[in-house]
Amino acid sequence: MSAADPLLSIEELVTEFYTEKETVRAVDGVNFDIHRGETLGIVGESGSGKSVTARSIMGLVESPGSVLSESSITFDGEELTEKSESEYQNIRGAKIAMVFQDPLTSLNPVYTVGNQLKETLRLHRGLTGKAATEKAIELLEDVGIPDAARRVKEYPHQFSGGMRQRTVIALALACSPELLICDEPTTALDVTIQAQILELLDEIQEERDLAIMFITHDMGVIAEVSDRVAVMYAGEIVESAPVIDLYENPAHPYTNGLLDSIPGEEPGGGELSTIEGEVPIPNGPATHCRFEPRCPKAFEECLEVPPQLLATEEQTDDHRAACLLYPDDMSREEAVQEHRAAAVRTGGIDE
Ligand code: SF4
Repeated sequence: MSAADPLLSIEELVTEFYTEKETVRAVDGVNFDIHRGETLGIVGESGSGKSVTARSIMGLVESPGSVLSESSITFDGEELTEKSESEYQNIRGAKIAMVFQDPLTSLNPVYTVGNQLKETLRLHRGLTGKAATEKAIELLEDVGIPDAARRVKEYPHQFSGGMRQRTVIALALACSPELLICDEPTTALDVTIQAQILELLDEIQEERDLAIMFITHDMGVIAEVSDRVAVMYAGEIVESAPVIDLYENPAHPYTNGLLDSIPGEEPGGGELSTIEGEVPIPNGPATHCRFEPRCPKAFEECLEVPPQLLATEEQTDDHRAACLLYPDDMSREEAVQEHRAAAVRTGGIDE
């Protein structure tokens, strides 16, 4: 593997859940890469498939769900979808770690934070006794917990919300992971603490050359943390671009809707915009644009052709949108034809 290769590469990821009534295709044909030292922001409403994507990478999709066999998740050159559960356990926590929204779900209330850190260090790094205690204190110091030698003996309920999330980050870092997946890590925190946690993640990333996948529904947070952004809707990535390009030239009508919904960004300073309607629950491969019922720019073909993630302009490769209006330097008929041909190639529709 060369340094230019992505650390994580996701290809055609499809994750489904099966109920008596229906199959829910929570993630539908997602593709992206993350390089060392890079932050990929994944943004979208609840139900867009962001968290299921994260759980699929972590090998945490349990029955009645499964990652379909055509999916590929390559981490550091290894195919993860072929790993057994015990092989996955060696990767989870050690090479890929995850920080969840609510620190209380990651911390055990009956053990001191020190004991929880030491248990992780024992399991993954074989550290015990004084060495483990010293490492636990060092980790708390690394995440900015003052008076760490004393606080290591305290319980989670004795910590503030921000301190708890710092502790969860310390737990995630205990095994020196190469990829950190953060699933709405600041949503439960107030704005000042949120800013501190984002700053901490930034510092840690720089020190350790960490790759970060940052999931949130908050476009403001995405702008602060990401190098590149993938916008998800109903299980699919509908737009991907370098962060500045996404904010300066948003393409997909859904991305435009999300940007108009940021408080303080309402056009003309009027009422806050919202995207009417709800995210649909996909139960099979897309046969049309899933955003069509909510899209202000929808036209007839949007109900006939499933848009593919294509370049927004013919000469651009790093800004892509799954919308029949793009590439925008083609006529609408040509663009629809491009999407139709791409959908036939990927098996999305028949010729
Ligand atoms: S394909 Fe059509 S319905 Fe879908 S986002 Fe583009 S314009 Fe809107």
